[in-house]
Amino acid sequence: MTEKQYGGSTGRETGKVVTNINKDATKSTTNKVRIDKSTSEDKNFSYNKSSGEEKIIKAGKIASETKKYAASIIKRGMPLLEIAEKIEAEIEKLGGKPAFPANLSIDNIAAHYTPSYDDKTIAQGLLKVDIGVSMNGLIADTAFSIDLENNDENKRLIKASMDALEKALKIVKRDVSTDEIGEIISKTIESNGFSPIINLSGHSMNKHELHSGITIPNINDKRNINLKEGLYAIEPFATTGSGRVHDGRPSGIYELKETKNVRSPIAREVLEFVAKEYNTLPFCSRWVVKKLGTKALFGLKQLEDNGNLHHYSQLVETQGSKVSQAEQTVLISGEEIIVTTV
Ligand code: MN
Ligand code: MN
Repeated sequence: MTEKQYGGSTGRETGKVVTNINKDATKSTTNKVRIDKSTSEDKNFSYNKSSGEEKIIKAGKIASETKKYAASIIKRGMPLLEIAEKIEAEIEKLGGKPAFPANLSIDNIAAHYTPSYDDKTIAQGLLKVDIGVSMNGLIADTAFSIDLENNDENKRLIKASMDALEKALKIVKRDVSTDEIGEIISKTIESNGFSPIINLSGHSMNKHELHSGITIPNINDKRNINLKEGLYAIEPFATTGSGRVHDGRPSGIYELKETKNVRSPIAREVLEFVAKEYNTLPFCSRWVVKKLGTKALFGLKQLEDNGNLHHYSQLVETQGSKVSQAEQTVLISGEEIIVTTV
């Protein structure tokens, strides 16, 4: 998944909101959904050799294997629902959990399309496949694009985002400026004859946190942040259009913001389920329907209205133009640079 920028601040309108959740210990009672507020090890979690590097590497390997699997099964005309379910099943088969629902975004939808439980959309055009793997909350986030209509322009767009990613990964090291990364991404996409999407960006990641605060821009945004040790997703988007996205339809992808109480029993049931199962990572209505039936859709709506959930929008290129994406996760660990999802 990606992060949309709103005029210079981060894409999530309320910022980091789930600060008081003990991200490993989710408890509930019949009356009240409760999340233990004691300080957890996660709060001070930082990446070093002993603090989960093995799981980060494993999550990356599973993501990489799943990408290869996805590329081998996806054919034009296949239902997106079938593709998403197969991708997510493969992640579990390999010993991981999806860190977010498989994103399968076609043509001018840049990101955040995941099939609903009754989705009839079929694979076609320029398809972006964005895959997340979690190993105990440690994340890999990676994406590739496929041309399903044998179109030259699609292929060149795909090459542009891949080239930009490759060049960006070459300069990643401790203390590299995000300005330099953004600069090399935009220059590379432009030299391929296209535009970068300037209000989408990569991001730092932390345990149970897909977007943990630092933005990796696709242009030089002059914020000049130096990358520290840690885990980052870099994700150039290339387009034939103007280079911006806006919010499209609701995606059916949600993220837990607050566990405050909600009155309706079905909403409470959904809240307890998602807090326990997905913690603070994104999940989708399809997963909730699978567990609790279509009645859960009312619960999701109530939780959204009550402010418990953030509902992601689909991200759509402003001029309706095609978009390609490439993404890898990179770990900066001391002097070592490990692209975990290769
Ligand atoms: Mn991402
Ligand atoms: Mn992603």
